[in-house]
Amino acid sequence: MLSETIINQHKISSLVNNSAIEYSCSSAFPLVIKNDLKSRTQDEVVHQESVEEKRLLQALGESEQRYALTTQVVNDGLWSWDLSCDQVDYSPRWKSMVGCQEWEINNSPVEWLVRVHPANIEKLKQNLVDCWQEKITQFAMEYSLLHKDGQYRSMYCKCMVMTNAQGEVSHLIGSQADTTDRKDLKDQLNYDAIRDKLTNLPNCQFFISKLKELSQLKQNPDYYFGVLYLDLDQFKNVNYSFGYLVGDRLLIEIVERLKSCLGTQDLLARLGGDEFAILLVSSAPADYPSQVASRIQQEFSEPIKIAEHSILISTSIGIDASFSLNSCSGENNLDLIESLKNAEIAMNQAKINGQACNRRFESWSYLQALEKSKSEDNLRKAIEQQQFELHYQPIVRLEDHQLVGFEALIRWHHPERGLVLPGDFIPLAEDTGLINPIGWWVLRSACLQMVQWHQEYPAAESIFISVNITGRQLSQPYGGDIIAQIMTETGLNPHCLKLEITESEIIENIDLVSLTIEKLKNLGVQLSMDDFGTGYSSLSYLQYLPVDTLKIDRSFIQNMEKDCHQLELVKTIIKLAEVFDLDLIAEGIESEAQSNQLMEFKCKYGQGYLFSKPVTNAIAATLLE
Ligand code: C2E
Ligand code: MG
Ligand code: MG
Repeated sequence: MLSETIINQHKISSLVNNSAIEYSCSSAFPLVIKNDLKSRTQDEVVHQESVEEKRLLQALGESEQRYALTTQVVNDGLWSWDLSCDQVDYSPRWKSMVGCQEWEINNSPVEWLVRVHPANIEKLKQNLVDCWQEKITQFAMEYSLLHKDGQYRSMYCKCMVMTNAQGEVSHLIGSQADTTDRKDLKDQLNYDAIRDKLTNLPNCQFFISKLKELSQLKQNPDYYFGVLYLDLDQFKNVNYSFGYLVGDRLLIEIVERLKSCLGTQDLLARLGGDEFAILLVSSAPADYPSQVASRIQQEFSEPIKIAEHSILISTSIGIDASFSLNSCSGENNLDLIESLKNAEIAMNQAKINGQACNRRFESWSYLQALEKSKSEDNLRKAIEQQQFELHYQPIVRLEDHQLVGFEALIRWHHPERGLVLPGDFIPLAEDTGLINPIGWWVLRSACLQMVQWHQEYPAAESIFISVNITGRQLSQPYGGDIIAQIMTETGLNPHCLKLEITESEIIENIDLVSLTIEKLKNLGVQLSMDDFGTGYSSLSYLQYLPVDTLKIDRSFIQNMEKDCHQLELVKTIIKLAEVFDLDLIAEGIESEAQSNQLMEFKCKYGQGYLFSKPVTNAIAATLLE
């Protein structure tokens, strides 16, 4: 019986969580079992005095000593529960793990169970009962145990069943290891993996996993869901203008405002950069998502104060609403990931619609977005496959129709649609940023062409080339350097280059554009204000910006014969140019009458179908001849 018990002892080694300490089969032995067995084996020694038993007794004595030592050095707390008397023997280490001295804890199981966190106690009890009832032979679980200092510690507990000679469960023996530090680290790592560091909001990964989790729920007719997708408008300008530190603080402030618009069940996450998503949960099918979106817009109407700056920023919001887990078909039809995608599409629509607004996802807007992405693809291909070409429209002196310059106008030879005019693709190019490669290609090609013409027709050396340029190009970092480099590469005299930009393009990006314009002026490049009269027509900008030429928009020219107000306007713009000492070019002249009228008002230059439509470079060359 003794040898059987000793063989059983190897079990304890598998219970100890500290693998740094090794146990031989007979080394670690639970005290309570040992006492019980010791008395019985001593009887047997007295009665039988067999050599074998003596050896075993000696082994037992050694085992006792080793056990005493082991329980002192091992980092795990050991316990042994004698089911016959319902007493638990706790090792000194076990007791110190809950901050107690030897004498402070008696042998009652209550000493242990009363310290287990209420959230874990039922599971622990169940496991213990299952062991007693021989449903299981071992278990391992984690629970929190109350320390004397009032804090809970995380413990990893292992338990095994011991049987007596009759094969009945006589003892439960086990160990526990303090995993608080490990758990804290794990919790921190887990926390970091799902949190955005700056705002402390859940990050994109967490948000998506939450959406997936909810989408898998079985029906729950009590809830309706909606997703909002937010993108701050022009946020990068804040970073450019005030620096990243202010940008970061602004984001934190914005998060506070967003939170104030949400209910307790809603989930706000930062997807990255200046993009946020919100999962809205409501108990009624009312249009909660739209209400929240409006509330957010309201919050954004007040400027945000960061240090000495008062920053007014807007946001574009896409809404996808409102889904219930309760579908008509009785099947779960909730796909919140799809919903997030839809909300993003709707947000992009809101951007196109002029930003600072909300937009609900509609399937037609999805089709539009699809169409847009197809067009974007085509546009990218057009750049790669060089499907663009420049046409040139003459600019003439009105009194003698003498050619003074050309305006370069882009055309797209679309493989299916044929010749596509810029009005049909420049807005998309601007929207997607493709305007940069396209625009720089235009500038380089036009300059090269002009250099070639200057070489071929020396008499035309003063003829200039006008190139349309966007605010986006000019506000690009190093925009001025790119232009300077193109001038050097192509060898065009900078005085023969006019860059045409519209007022609104300048004004919307005034800070960055002015920097580039200053560089251009130093190079000697000329600046034309295109489509003048259709935008802000701000006199103050005319005064501050080093503009050389105004181009009156063709809508004024075409309406001036029918509308005396327009006629007056044209007259005023011409006067204005005179006051500011600017050259003036009238666009879109189609008739002699228009040309004569403009000359009467002392407008010197013009451009329009009356003189020539935009033509290919070959035809333009014949005009130079
Ligand atoms: P814009 O710079 O104002 O160019 C003048 C536009 O008016 C050209 O249209 C020209 O064909 C048209 N036009 C000229 N004379 C007449 C006329 O007598 N009657 C009528 N009905 N139209 C006339 P286009 O080539 O379709 O270009 C439209 C706009 O596209 C341009 O307006 C310009 O804003 C933009 N654009 C053209 N090429 C480029 C480019 O290379 N880069 C950029 N960023 N924009 C470009
Ligand atoms: Mg133009
Ligand atoms: Mg124009």
